[in-house]
Amino acid sequence: MKSTIHSTIGETCIICEEKKEMGIHLYTEFICTDCEKDMLQTDAEDPKYKFYLQQLKKITIPKIYS
Ligand SMILES: [Zn+2]
Repeated sequence: MKSTIHSTIGETCIICEEKKEMGIHLYTEFICTDCEKDMLQTDAEDPKYKFYLQQLKKITIPKIYS
């Protein structure tokens, strides 16, 4: 587990890899609200969905299934 450093300009989203202020913490990682919303609206058939899953693999999750 990496230590969490809270900076004043937000955190780096693991999906878009940009610094964002608003977002959620998923286990040890940060996902901005934009990406979170985007992911929820993306169909599993959409190529974008695979990209999201790829990015989500950075997170240490016991199990991830769609
Ligand atoms: Zn993002």
